[in-house]
Amino acid sequence: CGVFGIYSRHDDVALNTYWGLYALQHRGQESAGITLTDGCQMDVQRGMGLVGEVFRKGLPEMPGAHIAIGHVRYSTTGSSLLINTQPLMVSYSGGHISLAHNGNLTNARELRVDLEQKGSVFQTSIDSEVIVNLIARSGKDTIEDRVLESVARIEGAYCLVIMTDDKLIGVRDPHGFRPLCIGKLNGGWVLASESCALDSVGAEMIRDLAPGEMVVVDDAGPRYYSFAAGNRRALCIFEYIYFARPDSVIDGQSVYAARFAMGRQLARESGFKADLVISVPDSGTTAALGFSYESGVPFAEGLIKNRYIGRTFIQPEQQKRDTGVRIKLNANRAVVEGKSVIMVDDSIVRGTTSGKIVKMLKEAGATSVKMCVSSPPIGYPCYYGIDTSARKELIAASKQVEEIRDFIGADALYYLSLEGLHGSVANIDHGRMCYACFNCDYPCNIPGGEEAAGSK
Ligand code: SF4
Ligand code: MG
Repeated sequence: CGVFGIYSRHDDVALNTYWGLYALQHRGQESAGITLTDGCQMDVQRGMGLVGEVFRKGLPEMPGAHIAIGHVRYSTTGSSLLINTQPLMVSYSGGHISLAHNGNLTNARELRVDLEQKGSVFQTSIDSEVIVNLIARSGKDTIEDRVLESVARIEGAYCLVIMTDDKLIGVRDPHGFRPLCIGKLNGGWVLASESCALDSVGAEMIRDLAPGEMVVVDDAGPRYYSFAAGNRRALCIFEYIYFARPDSVIDGQSVYAARFAMGRQLARESGFKADLVISVPDSGTTAALGFSYESGVPFAEGLIKNRYIGRTFIQPEQQKRDTGVRIKLNANRAVVEGKSVIMVDDSIVRGTTSGKIVKMLKEAGATSVKMCVSSPPIGYPCYYGIDTSARKELIAASKQVEEIRDFIGADALYYLSLEGLHGSVANIDHGRMCYACFNCDYPCNIPGGEEAAGSK
């Protein structure tokens, strides 16, 4: 998911949130929503689909609104339904609260059962509603203490953007699984999942929130609270491999530079040679350029992507994904006919995309297709907000590299090594990242305990 928030008395907060969500659209395409407040009333507008579709008939209007938050959703818990869209909004004895969440809680089920026994009623099936309930039920006096008390009880991955009638709050979980940054705009303040959203509204990046940090913004400006020093840092490596936009900088590391380095390293490790290097656009393109730069094999556009279709992977059901591939990508005969090609993609999850693409390239006349993947084999599921799916669907959970090569019909297949991946994210100590979907080293409890890692 993607989250955005703004506190400003000088800007149209609804419009800026809309632009910010547009820049974060790659983080989720199932639904979008914006909440606004003028200090007295709070109003939310949510809908299914892309940001542009949800707000096609106009943005929510509220004269004097000075705080807004927004969310784009990519479902990992709770089905893709209108009821499960965010931001969530509730009123309680202390006023209104709206909340947008990126990530996945790993103890939501236990907390929910506990809250239900104490009389809470849940309206959605998403884990994020647990957090709203904890905040609303807290016995503390200030919103700062209510949020801190609540986050002390939740586990897993969460970046939160929360608004009350007079404050904007951002929270990044103690492991720092997902990114969250703060920027400055005309004397106002902006929170966003990725720096590309700050750029899009013309905000100046101040910094990333640290893992285990909360920021509270009101007319006095931002105040920072550190609530969980000493936890293992575990920024998700998949943000660099696939999820984030290449023009974003996360925790001081450019996403583009990381992907380019992955491609260069792939060229060195694989030693593959061919007439051309092509990418599976868009997610494989930066690594393919790095491969070409390092190897000297020319880059060409052997696959053309339909620009008007979203990320196939992010369609929740397999059927939508299967038809999605052919509509999304087509082989470019003028480029590949009679040529041997190296095809670079960022990851193989189920193997469905890759198999179809190899077949298309051969039908378009490619004489051989060697596939290079800018991440290691994904053998374990993610419990922290990326839908790499159940273990039984992960092709690398049950097949060796040679069997996968055979399954996708490629002439050769090479995956980037874990060490090569570490080296590509040069600005971050690799002990501070999560690689669990490659090595099963989960940084915090997963639902159902350790034994579930092999069975989900
Ligand atoms: Fe990211 Fe993989 Fe860790 Fe999930 S398990 S947070 S996808 S690195
Ligand atoms: Mg892709």
